[in-house]
Amino acid sequence: MSILRLTFLGTSAAQPTIHRNLSGLVMKADTDLLLFDCGEGSQRQMVRFGTGFNVDAVFFTHFHADHYLGIIGFLRTLGMNGREQPLTLYGPPPAKRLLNQAVHLGIDRLSFPVHFEELRHGEEVNRGTYVVRAVGVDHRVSAVGYVIEEQERPGRFDVKRALALGVPSGPAFGQLQRGEQVTTPSGKVVTPAEVLGPPRAGRKVVISGDTRPCRALVEASAGADLLIHEATFSDDEQERAKETRHSTAREAGGVARDARVERLILTHLSSRHDTEPGRLLAQARAAFEGPTEVAYDGLTIELLPRD
Ligand SMILES: [Zn+2]
Ligand SMILES: [Zn+2]
Repeated sequence: MSILRLTFLGTSAAQPTIHRNLSGLVMKADTDLLLFDCGEGSQRQMVRFGTGFNVDAVFFTHFHADHYLGIIGFLRTLGMNGREQPLTLYGPPPAKRLLNQAVHLGIDRLSFPVHFEELRHGEEVNRGTYVVRAVGVDHRVSAVGYVIEEQERPGRFDVKRALALGVPSGPAFGQLQRGEQVTTPSGKVVTPAEVLGPPRAGRKVVISGDTRPCRALVEASAGADLLIHEATFSDDEQERAKETRHSTAREAGGVARDARVERLILTHLSSRHDTEPGRLLAQARAAFEGPTEVAYDGLTIELLPRD
């Protein structure tokens, strides 16, 4: 995977506000365009932020209305644009039943096939250079978070060492980088292990969806480059967070701290914090020392490959 870029389409909980739309996030991963949740109005945000419409898969965290009603209009737009390639929609049960209803609502017929797949805790979708894995989380209804994890990449190629061993620069370099051994013009065999450094860890991003802080998510987030965690409430709304199975910003910070992630982004803000998220930020920072920010609609993050 070369490119890993995320764009927040919506960062508000439950209801849209003037500044924040409902949940939705676009991820450009290598050549794929993925959509995570699709709240009402997501397609307009995609136009606004120029993410492109040609999505390869859609992943839903759960089926509260603010996370999936946007798929109804979005699929129709894709149809009007002449899409023919199939699209798979993933989500926790009862994804098949609910998405089937949403997709076939009304009288329009889609011009392309839509498939539904349910993902349970630990199940993953292999996309070649990376995987998307579902993590069961703790919300009022069946819900998952997602771990997007790049495969381990080969170690760094030591050009000087290869030349010193008599490997001519050119195609032989590529063969070694792909894990093949080569024979030098003088007849000596050089193996990849002689010229490649240790394998490099892939990038890892975690999306919590709606949840109470939970152990499964801490474990799944271990060492992630980025944790995107919901922070619906502040400290003084702690009881409400428990009742509605959401997290406070401080609790999101606690998950980031326990999982030792590199970076934390808070999203899914209740309307009370809409224009003044400073309190949420301060409370999350009290629990987590790493870089922490509050998402806003249109925020785009590019994660560079690890060295
Ligand atoms: Zn929600
Ligand atoms: Zn929810």
